[in-house]
Amino acid sequence: SDTAQIIDGKAIAKQIRDELAVDVVEFIQNNSVVPCLAAVLVGDDPASEVYVRNKRRACEHVGIDSQLHRLPADTTQDELLDLVAKLNKDNEVHGILVQLPLPAGLDADQILLAVSPAKDVDAFHPTNVGRLVQGKPRFLPCTPHGVMQLLKRTGIDTAGQHAVVVGRSDIVGKPLAQLLSARGADATVTVCHSRTNDLPGITRQADILIAAIGKPEFITGDMIKPGAVVIDVGVNRTDAGLVGDVEFESASKVASHITPVPGGVGPMTIAMLLVNTLRAAQALEQ
Ligand code: NDP
Repeated sequence: SDTAQIIDGKAIAKQIRDELAVDVVEFIQNNSVVPCLAAVLVGDDPASEVYVRNKRRACEHVGIDSQLHRLPADTTQDELLDLVAKLNKDNEVHGILVQLPLPAGLDADQILLAVSPAKDVDAFHPTNVGRLVQGKPRFLPCTPHGVMQLLKRTGIDTAGQHAVVVGRSDIVGKPLAQLLSARGADATVTVCHSRTNDLPGITRQADILIAAIGKPEFITGDMIKPGAVVIDVGVNRTDAGLVGDVEFESASKVASHITPVPGGVGPMTIAMLLVNTLRAAQALEQ
């Protein structure tokens, strides 16, 4: 066939949220406590506002409480550290999310290090990153976990497959390479980045190709092996609207399966954040 099957991230995310809502009800009945996510939003970046609003709305839909802690753009490092310390100690709060990027002048690494690893639902704390690398994760990072769930729930077996991840960021490329190569997923992984020689030569070897680059429509159909599975993590705002890192038009003629943008990885990221919040509550209340 000359058109790829669309991997419907919106539908799969809804399926995960529906399953989660059942688990949340059970958790509340057993513990008489409602799982709660505290979101920290510093400054007034419009994209961050939208992300936080969507995350809180998603919490509401599955029965998870959420708090919004809004701080002005001129907040000092110490003020933000104080808030994080307060949330760490607050028994009503199970998950803490510090929305990135932080305004200039704030040291995000130090803030993320201050979040209690037990409440670190983004899995950005070095302890949680280390646990993931050692194969004993507490929380799985949301976007990479969302990608793994898309593959799994589409019936794509990663074992023995050559997965090529384009991008090596701390939040997407690096942890995704870890998850794909972990025991159980068992893919053979190649990680590419801006210094990779002959990128098309490598992407054309991929059975599973993941684009996490941040460059609109960078991966074109001629860079894809016929029949490959293509996962597009990219979210790029252009004059033509929201586009991914993959040129959908040409890629969908070559791939066997492909994620759309929007409606692919994006909704999965939020669903996995909710999953982590329930997991944090389960661990903290047990
Ligand atoms: P980063 O900018 O942190 O990382 C981009 C990576 O792509 C880097 O490793 C970079 O290489 C690599 N890269 C850049 N240019 C090229 C090139 N020409 N050839 C090969 N590799 C290249 O981005 P993120 O990982 O944070 O995000 C990637 C994309 O995913 C973005 O569009 C972002 O908006 C989106 N995103 C979507 C999410 C979702 O929920 N759907 C969540 C998070 C991100 P180098 O390291 O050498 O610089």
